[in-house]
Amino acid sequence: MKDRNILDTVIEFEKQIEAMQQQFGAFKQFIALMMEEQQALQTENLHLRTRLEEVIAQQPAAEEKNNTTPDIGEGYDNLARLYYEGYHVCHVHFGSTRKDEDCLFCLAFLNKQNG
Ligand SMILES: [Zn+2]
Repeated sequence: MKDRNILDTVIEFEKQIEAMQQQFGAFKQFIALMMEEQQALQTENLHLRTRLEEVIAQQPAAEEKNNTTPDIGEGYDNLARLYYEGYHVCHVHFGSTRKDEDCLFCLAFLNKQNG
């Protein structure tokens, strides 16, 4: 009777270890996913930074003083270009990649800027 109890305990313990192994596996997958996502975000961030510097470099230097009215047409061109390069320019997803899908928010926003 006592041996039976010990065997039950060992079997129960083994089940717990197996459950923990499964949880650990899921945890590992989660970590891998997070690392992948972080890598993608870093790459996207770098790309956006580069793009932003390009866009800033194209702005006329005279705009540092507020005595010129901002050129709406040029701002629109920059946003439209960003959009066609595959980035959201809408306030909902601004700066994230569109993954080759049109975004109604972006299109509505660009339409409003242009009209
Ligand atoms: Zn959008």
